[in-house]
Amino acid sequence: MAKIIRSQRTKKTGVQSVPKSPAKKAVAKSLPKPASKSAEKSSKKSPKPKPWTPAEVHEAFSRFRKANPEPKGELEHLNPYTLLVAVVLSAQATDAGVNKATHALFAVADTPQKMLALGEDKVRDYIKTIGLYRNKARNVIALSEKLIAEFGGEVPRTRAEIETLPGAGRKTANVVLNMAFGEHTMAVDTHVFRVGNRTGLAPGNTPLEVELGLEKVIPSEFMQHAHHWLILHGRYTCLARKPCCELCLINDLCRWPEKTV
Ligand code: SF4
Repeated sequence: MAKIIRSQRTKKTGVQSVPKSPAKKAVAKSLPKPASKSAEKSSKKSPKPKPWTPAEVHEAFSRFRKANPEPKGELEHLNPYTLLVAVVLSAQATDAGVNKATHALFAVADTPQKMLALGEDKVRDYIKTIGLYRNKARNVIALSEKLIAEFGGEVPRTRAEIETLPGAGRKTANVVLNMAFGEHTMAVDTHVFRVGNRTGLAPGNTPLEVELGLEKVIPSEFMQHAHHWLILHGRYTCLARKPCCELCLINDLCRWPEKTV
């Protein structure tokens, strides 16, 4: 999955731009900024958005559910082990790019034992179209060894245990727990992070803040699929550069001041 990138988009406020030289910058910083009329107007225009009410959150996820009752992840896998490997490979890569490589890899190695038998050099050959493939091949072999040595060759079922595997962090653990074992976890990738912040559903400065915020507001009945609904919403509707607000199912509920409807 792609790395979280915070939007750096800023509004044009009409305030004079900061001088470029460091010395001038320091001076400019120390001076009180002139409160131009347009800046005042702009800050008045964007008060902190009102938190969503429970009824609004329920309404939003009811609409997602109605539009797509059984959302599916786009990473191809055959079992919890291949899902784990696919998620580890997807760091800073697209799902489509990962699928292209894993299609052939998983045909010959769909268990930790088979992956070890294949060996690091061959794994590297299979995944060389994916970014950071050398490091990732090393991690796939190391995590397979660890699964055999410590977990009887099975993917463990707790976040803490999955996080001990080479190449697997909290997001990987949340995806695996949700998709392989049906746990109500919320994996926050770049799309979920953006949607959580923009909509005002769960504002946060870090993926963990957004994850915990979403878990707090989303009713349990939606948590099985909430992760996929939000990813798909961010990937195909609430796009980073040009969100399709006119087509958005929740545009009346969204709190983003820059939405285009
Ligand atoms: S209204 Fe626009 S910004 Fe808000 S969630 Fe929909 S697409 Fe995203």
